[in-house]
Amino acid sequence: MTQTPNGASVAPLIEILEVIWDRHRQDRSGEVATYIPELAKANPEWFGICIATVDGAVYGVGDSDQAFTIQSISKPFAYGMALEHRGPKAMRARVSVEPSGEAFNSISLEQGTGRPLNPMINAGAIAVSSMVRTSLGDSAFDKMLAWFGTFAGRTLSIDDAVYRSESATGHRNRAIAHLLRNFGVVADPVEAGLDLYFRQCSILVNCRDLAILGATLANRGTNPSTGKRALAPDHVDDVLSVMTTCGMYNYAGQWLHEVGLPAKSGVAGGILAVLPGRMGIGVFSPRLDAQGNSVRGIGVCKELSDRFRLHLFDAPRSGRAAVRSQSTLARRQSTRVRPESDAARLRDIGAASHILELQGDLGFATMEVIQRRTCACASRADAVVFDISRVDSADETAAEFFGTLVSHLVGSGKRVVFAGLPPKNPLCRHIVSRCTPTAIYPSLDAALEACEESLLSGLPISAATHDSSCGPIPLSRLDVAQGLDAAALAKLQGYLRQEHFPAGQCLFKKGDGAQHIYFLTGGTVSVRLYTGPSTFQRLATFLAGSVFGEMAVVDRGRRSSDIWAETDVTCLTLSLDDYDRLGAEHPGIKFRLLEYLIRILSSRLRKANEQIAALSG
Ligand code: GLU
Repeated sequence: MTQTPNGASVAPLIEILEVIWDRHRQDRSGEVATYIPELAKANPEWFGICIATVDGAVYGVGDSDQAFTIQSISKPFAYGMALEHRGPKAMRARVSVEPSGEAFNSISLEQGTGRPLNPMINAGAIAVSSMVRTSLGDSAFDKMLAWFGTFAGRTLSIDDAVYRSESATGHRNRAIAHLLRNFGVVADPVEAGLDLYFRQCSILVNCRDLAILGATLANRGTNPSTGKRALAPDHVDDVLSVMTTCGMYNYAGQWLHEVGLPAKSGVAGGILAVLPGRMGIGVFSPRLDAQGNSVRGIGVCKELSDRFRLHLFDAPRSGRAAVRSQSTLARRQSTRVRPESDAARLRDIGAASHILELQGDLGFATMEVIQRRTCACASRADAVVFDISRVDSADETAAEFFGTLVSHLVGSGKRVVFAGLPPKNPLCRHIVSRCTPTAIYPSLDAALEACEESLLSGLPISAATHDSSCGPIPLSRLDVAQGLDAAALAKLQGYLRQEHFPAGQCLFKKGDGAQHIYFLTGGTVSVRLYTGPSTFQRLATFLAGSVFGEMAVVDRGRRSSDIWAETDVTCLTLSLDDYDRLGAEHPGIKFRLLEYLIRILSSRLRKANEQIAALSG
């Protein structure tokens, strides 16, 4: 990354945009629009490029903060506003959606009905503004300005001089409006609707605003920076459709071939292009070509589209990434640390529990991949765990599709478990309604733990719980006792101390000097790594029968995390001094103990490796 004069680093994308900006700056062809006298005052050298993404990043170069009037780029947004106020049916009755193939100010109306051919040419846009004016009366312009402001994420204003200039000289638009009145497409007073149109064309924006307006359309109508809904998603489809077929006037067909993005240009020199689901692009340069489109604007959009493969039909194969990882309970287990015998059983019987971690946005394409991957493993599965904590969104089709998949699995006798499911998610409704009782857990770890309990106990997943009511496990039944005869066990017992900790007590904290090894004979403790004063991550949970704190024996170092009693806990503890004494007095027993600890450490390392492999797999 290069540096700005004040030392801040410049994003690589800015560097790329600067190179593109510099190349197109050399192009001085075209003319600044003069038919609206005030527009002729624009500096022909102004030139800005800006990209805004659907997750709120904005990259601008050149004169991307230079204000100019939005002109015809207002038309798709005014159309969206009319759709919200009048509904698609009423709009279609007055304005068609067919490309005209003619210039922006052509007086082309459908034969017979007098309907303008589309809302992107002046005739259609004047009809749209008139309809908004009729619906909203005198407050129409204030509401329209606020409407555009929600798209831009800031308060906008108009260029009064440009408005007055166009209002005084816009005879052709006035003629169009009266012709539309003749056909009954616009209502009286004609001047009021026309005035709203002139004002909307004079709204001041900059390149950055254009890119954010575009990103809001790309983001299904929600402004990515403010999170405010500007337009309903169904209307976004209507707006982008007319932009695709009619947005670039009589250049629309060639534009779709060469750039391939829904777009709209304005005579002040702005071009706004949208890559649905990804980004908005704003370019501003006042010199126009014969069709009234910014020369540099077109050049830049062509280059961006070519270089970054932005053409609408060059859609990425996002479906493949929907399954983040796929594994089984034999390879991937919860953070619960179990006695070796249980862990070994799980490695045997866990292979029939499949785990699919899903991610991203679920729609038709992603669901198709998910159902294929699920069906491929379902014949070998008793249970399927779907972790959807990383799913960003799911449309209704995906939820429906998921419901069918779950019914299919449940119908063929599989248990289906969900992890990370927020209760209000539309997915949840469909799944729950289709397949009760489905087990739903807040996290993958909790879901895996429940599956493990179920496998080990033979009980159904939702009923299996760990039995902690049978009193402390005697030393002879702990894994550490394996290979020690009764005499050796009695000797070892002499070095151990029985201790109790009430639920909620911290046994030791990260950074404490290590004093003891703990053999857990009753209850549950968890390993916590604090990420803030009261927020922590549960790294592992130890059940009765397991050992913890053993790393201290190896390195005599400090504790690497906290241990908390989750329930009332009983332990047999061995101090490091007694461990050393045991070595001096009974080297054979110490040797056995050491073997056991090495086995524990290596099985924990193996589990960690498997989980890392499952995460990257
Ligand atoms: N206000 C302009 C007009 O109606 C808009 C034309 C455009 O930007 O293409 O003439």
